Amino acid sequence: MISVEEALERILSFVHELEPEDQPLLAALGQVLAEDAVAPFSIPPLDNTAMDGYAVIAASTEGASEARPVSLRVVGELAAGYVYDGEVVPGTAVRIMTGAPMPRGADSIVPFEETDETGFVPPSKTGALDTTVRVFKGARPGNNVRYSGEDVREGEVVLPRGTYLRPADIGVLASLGRTGVRVIRRPVVAILSTGDEILEPGQPRRPGTIYDSNAYSLASLVTRAGGVPLRLGIARDTIEDLTAKVHEGLRADLLITSAGVSRGDFDVVKDVLQREGSIDFHLVNMRPGKPLAFGTFRQGERVVPHIGLPGNPVSSMLVFELFGRPALYKMLGRVQTQRLTVQAVSKDRLRMTDGRRFYARCIVSRENGGWIARLAGSQSSGVLTSLARANGLAIVPEGSPDVQPGETVTVMLLDGELG
Ligand code: AMP
Ligand code: MG
Repeated sequence: MISVEEALERILSFVHELEPEDQPLLAALGQVLAEDAVAPFSIPPLDNTAMDGYAVIAASTEGASEARPVSLRVVGELAAGYVYDGEVVPGTAVRIMTGAPMPRGADSIVPFEETDETGFVPPSKTGALDTTVRVFKGARPGNNVRYSGEDVREGEVVLPRGTYLRPADIGVLASLGRTGVRVIRRPVVAILSTGDEILEPGQPRRPGTIYDSNAYSLASLVTRAGGVPLRLGIARDTIEDLTAKVHEGLRADLLITSAGVSRGDFDVVKDVLQREGSIDFHLVNMRPGKPLAFGTFRQGERVVPHIGLPGNPVSSMLVFELFGRPALYKMLGRVQTQRLTVQAVSKDRLRMTDGRRFYARCIVSRENGGWIARLAGSQSSGVLTSLARANGLAIVPEGSPDVQPGETVTVMLLDGELG
């Protein structure tokens, strides 16, 4: 029997980062940069105002207060998107909107709130005005000014190669004027269900059959992990059908099969996997998650890794979560692969039936400023609805005694990521 860590290490030794591709910007969300993103210009490009107000020379407002306002002559106005072609000289001001470039001469912005501005509608986007404004507070040079290059300097590597692209990164790339980006491509993951008893949803039910839930939960996990699922359907427990479907799967970057690898199974699945590729079967020290198979298939020059998941719906999802997801992340070039965990007080007894590391489906929530965990229902590896209810997996280390109510456990959050 091997540990979870050992199994993960072996599986990761079979997979490698994939090659780069060009993607339209929005399609690259969740992929990893395969280039340094360099700024072709500074951001902001020009010094500009952070507030609606008046562009002034700070010295012109010296000593201003509510009691003794300073009057300035308003010589023009400026909306964002335009450049003022005049100049601010002592005793004058330009009415200016957030984001508009600083007029020549001005060194600070007096916000409307510090003036007698009544909020009139400007007659033009940029033009001359001839009115006065009373300023109630002295400005200091630089007040409410955003300087050119404050965010990004021209020539700077803004996002280095290897960056996992989150929404803010996509926005940063757009701010550089980019419409596309070079990223590590997404892995295609072939998903094959096996078993004579498995039926495609939508087909009429027959006695002794169950619908194929694994292909659907696994395809969803693959999509969520950033991969592209390629569903191969259901292979009957015959050599011909299995062989044909496995070969179809070798177009993919990773082949995932479910069921047919446990001790009681008809040997045909194991036979085919062993004959067509090199495959090892391992008992992993975890519950749920019966034997796990992994190995490789040769496809000409290419080597396609294969993970053989157990058939039970919860086991197959958990084994994918622990081994398949990190494998996908490695192919995607992602570095951070650990789920977030919290320390939670267990409200229930967690029974250690066989000494294996136990992943208990639970619901974590807040209580009195801390985290608590309740079991999400039956812990049988066939009961998928309790996993559907769960938002976390309490991890009880191998060899531990039962966890008693009130004891603290580590809970891995099913949707929690550092990014
Ligand atoms: P096995 O690993 O073949 O022994 O299967 C273990 C259990 O998982 C059996 O009860 C199977 O019927 C069930 N099972 C296998 N494949 C699937 C599937 N694709 N969807 C739902 N249940 C499955
Ligand atoms: Mg079976």
